[in-house]
Amino acid sequence: MSIVAVVGRPNVGKSTFFNRLIKRREAIVDAVSGVTRDRHYGKSDWNGKEFTLIDTGGYVKGSDDIFEHEIDKQVELAIDESDVIIFVVDVTTGITPMDDEVAKLLRKHNKPVCIAVNKVDSNKARQDAVEFYNLGLGDYHCISAINGSGTGELLDEVVEKLPETSVDDFDDLPKFAVVGRPNAGKSSFINALIGEERYIVTDVAGTTRDSIDTRYNRFGFDFKLVDTAGIRRKAKVKEDLEFYSVMRSVRAIENSDVCLLILDATRGFDSQVQNIFWLAEKNRKGVVILVNKWDLVEKETNTIKEFKDFIKEKISPFTDVPIVFISVLNKQRIFKAIETAVEVYKARSKRVKTRELNDVLLPIIQNNPPPAFKGKYVKIKFITQLPTPQPQFAFFCNLPQYVKDPYKRFLENKLREHFDFNGVPISVYMRKK
Ligand code: GDP
Ligand code: GDP
Repeated sequence: MSIVAVVGRPNVGKSTFFNRLIKRREAIVDAVSGVTRDRHYGKSDWNGKEFTLIDTGGYVKGSDDIFEHEIDKQVELAIDESDVIIFVVDVTTGITPMDDEVAKLLRKHNKPVCIAVNKVDSNKARQDAVEFYNLGLGDYHCISAINGSGTGELLDEVVEKLPETSVDDFDDLPKFAVVGRPNAGKSSFINALIGEERYIVTDVAGTTRDSIDTRYNRFGFDFKLVDTAGIRRKAKVKEDLEFYSVMRSVRAIENSDVCLLILDATRGFDSQVQNIFWLAEKNRKGVVILVNKWDLVEKETNTIKEFKDFIKEKISPFTDVPIVFISVLNKQRIFKAIETAVEVYKARSKRVKTRELNDVLLPIIQNNPPPAFKGKYVKIKFITQLPTPQPQFAFFCNLPQYVKDPYKRFLENKLREHFDFNGVPISVYMRKK
């Protein structure tokens, strides 16, 4: 999946633009689950090409007195982590010193850049926009993020500059991404896993991000670790801001089959961890939660259960996720962690036979049919798993639009009960038959 980053100083309209582009559906999903989230990350598509959009500015809390080096870091990271950059500027202010600073950084690299001159709401503004040629980055697009004008042409250019979608490698090795907050123990875990104390190599600025999956054969398991380069590169940008860890996680998560989400037991499952979990879930990836530094926790009879309950509350409604308590320091349950990830991988690629699905689920549905809606009865006749990379199930029925979320969740739970999808997000669709 290609990544497009939106950069620019505060108040030029980045979030307005971003919100216009990310799929409306995501907002609705959040409204239903009642969770409010900072929306700095989303999917968008244009002319049939899908890409991931990141509003880098959203992470650097928007004030006018943002330090110059903050914006430098934001832009450098965008250059590192994305395929195309949209540089947003504001016609009402013209070029500011900070815009110049950003332009300077962008000129130094040859990452594709599209310039969006925002707030062009009038003809006068359109004429004023000419000054943005002085950024030295070539042609620009006049847009109004508020009313949407000009965004189509801008996206035409963005999509044109996206790399050809890479052909997925066809070996069926599990791809694991190790993700989590800074200091959770990711590097230590990977070191323990690959059995080398010092694997962090010197960083070459501007190296491409392709083919960075590294293959390992450990404990009798053959797998790839995705995006270890992101971890190697740690020395370059100090990951003190949440933004950096989230942004570094995005691509790793997208390129993986299963995410090993590591958290520091002494810090718990906080909103940042929740955010990373959500990224994995939203991308329909398998998830294993690894509670690390378990050596530091004082244990009583119920400690594990309480910890698990606490996490499940945070990840609800997708709670069917394995949680493994590990200590990388003492090399405790590292093997178990990988074993669990392999199980999740297998569950995620599993195909349940149509016959088996119907034999198991139809009687259950008969005993607990969907509630009637507007006096009409919904009849589910037939169920099949769709031929997608991750589990999706189609329930064919007479009135699909009348089946509401609670019943879909009921069906999902029954699928989980009978077919073991531990750690795997699954989708339930109602289809007209
Ligand atoms: P960010 O800090 O770059 O994310 O900027 P915001 O998206 O928060 O926008 C900053 C301000 O500019 C807000 O008051 C927006 O309503 C306003 N704004 C954004 N886009 C436009 C536009 O196209 N035209 C006008 N007139 N105002 C805009
Ligand atoms: P990263 O930022 O997620 O890659 O975290 P690191 O692997 O650099 O680990 C951060 C710190 O936590 C280091 O000082 C590690 O030695 C320490 N650490 C990692 N795993 C454990 C563990 O299981 N127990 C304890 N006590 N410390 C750990």
